[in-house]
Amino acid sequence: MVNECAAALCRSCFLLLLSHRAAECVTHPRYTLDVIRLNASSLDSFDVVVCGGGPAGTMAAISAARNGAKTLVIERHPFPGGSSTAAMVHPWLSFHNKRGEQVLAGLGQELLDRLQAIGGALGHLRDSIGFVHSLTPFDPDLTKQVMLQMLQKRRAVVAGHADRGCRKVGRCGERGARRQQSGEFRVPARIFIDASGDADIAFKAGAPMQAQRKDGRLITQPMTMNFRLSGVDWQPIRAFILQNPDEFHHETLFDDLRRGEPLTAVSGYFSQWRAVAETLGVPRDRLLFFSGVRPDECYVNTSRVTQLDGADAFDLTAGEIEGRRQVGAIADWLRQEIDGFQDSFISTIPTQIGVRETRRIVGDTMLSQNDVVSGAKFDDAIARSAYPVDIHAPTGGGLVTSEAPHDFYEIPFPLPAAANVVQCHRGGPLHFSDARRPRLNPPDADLFCDGAAGLAAAHCVESNQHPREMNFALLRDTLREQGAIV
Ligand SMILES: Cc1cc2nc3c(=O)[nH]c(=O)nc-3n(C[C@H](O)[C@H](O)[C@H](O)COP(=O)(O)OP(=O)(O)OC[C@H]3O[C@@H](n4cnc5c(N)ncnc54)[C@H](O)[C@@H]3O)c2cc1C
Repeated sequence: MVNECAAALCRSCFLLLLSHRAAECVTHPRYTLDVIRLNASSLDSFDVVVCGGGPAGTMAAISAARNGAKTLVIERHPFPGGSSTAAMVHPWLSFHNKRGEQVLAGLGQELLDRLQAIGGALGHLRDSIGFVHSLTPFDPDLTKQVMLQMLQKRRAVVAGHADRGCRKVGRCGERGARRQQSGEFRVPARIFIDASGDADIAFKAGAPMQAQRKDGRLITQPMTMNFRLSGVDWQPIRAFILQNPDEFHHETLFDDLRRGEPLTAVSGYFSQWRAVAETLGVPRDRLLFFSGVRPDECYVNTSRVTQLDGADAFDLTAGEIEGRRQVGAIADWLRQEIDGFQDSFISTIPTQIGVRETRRIVGDTMLSQNDVVSGAKFDDAIARSAYPVDIHAPTGGGLVTSEAPHDFYEIPFPLPAAANVVQCHRGGPLHFSDARRPRLNPPDADLFCDGAAGLAAAHCVESNQHPREMNFALLRDTLREQGAIV
């Protein structure tokens, strides 16, 4: 049997055919990965270099490679997925608008379908908290595998263990430097896509940044060390929610839960949590957790590490250590105090803490809170989102959210002002221009608009154009042909 890859990812079937034997997969297709060995000389020339292999960078690289560009992804970790895998940020929110219409598809949906086929996802489920229409649980480890397969199927090369991105980028076509354990290599490329989340390339290329929100103390949004518990019994949790609705977020889908619909997310336990939060040293107002792909799994998104700079290695290290301390404290308390968690145990603490906010680029287009709420549309739109504004209080504490748009707002093409780098989300050009400068956080949009960045980069390479000369009508037509909703 030839596996569904149909592209001989591991080439074992070709070898069998050449030796006149029946072709079958030697490696289980689920785990078939083609190892491309890199060395200094193989890094000499690329059309597109993507810095950062998070959801944004991975989708950008797949799209660039799929559309014909010779593509390299430079990533700090030896696997793709960024916050989705390395920081176990879970679930993906949200592919749908409030009315239940799907507003995001394309490469993100393809990733999800591939995951679901191997038991790494359950599809789109209702968000029990009622904050958004749907949420999408996924298995972080299988996500790494599937993302790698999608990258390598398109011959996009992944360079992991890169502790720095491009050091200097001036004009398109200049050289960037990749620094890792084995030394520093210069990597020329026609287009650089900054998907580092920290705007590393754009910053070094001199793109204007909004001033850091420091006024004597740092007031970026807090970091969170997520973790996964296994051995959780969800029945007593559901029963407690239904008996104590005032203890939970007011939009919780109580009626659905009474009817036996899946319990996918929990926000609350207000009284019990507030009574203990200070003792545990977690500056937050509620417990927040999500169901996983397997029935006894629970992803806890509750820790809060404040007043530290996620772009500073010393601060980041301090944050990681504090995050791990909080994970232990929260898990112990859950086991002792909350019905349903008695037999639970920590099955995964992720590689790194989740960093919500660092540098913010001044983009050609700046999205305002009003644009989100009113569902703004743009001439250079390359994706849609319906995720409302969600800003975590810099001091821990609460969450400020906006109304969700009636239908959707559009995401403009992600070009930083005055730098020849295409910038992907986390942050992208999607910053508020108001005085408080909160950061818009439309997570799933990463999976999609950055597919568009990759496609745009490939188009620019092919047509020898600068990204600013993009024909957006053509870009959108191609995106639609490739399954995106634009
Ligand atoms: C605590 C927290 C909770 C969140 N909750 C949710 C949620 O429930 N649902 C949801 O959908 N979204 C959530 N988000 C948002 C979501 O995680 C982000 O929107 C998404 O990860 C952004 O993707 P990205 O690819 O732009 O950035 P990232 O995921 O941050 O990826 C950036 C990648 O670049 C790499 N990198 C950075 N700098 C360099 C460098 N110099 N050289 C090489 N590699 C580099 C990093 O290792 C990383 O892999 C949350 C975020 C956080 C932090």
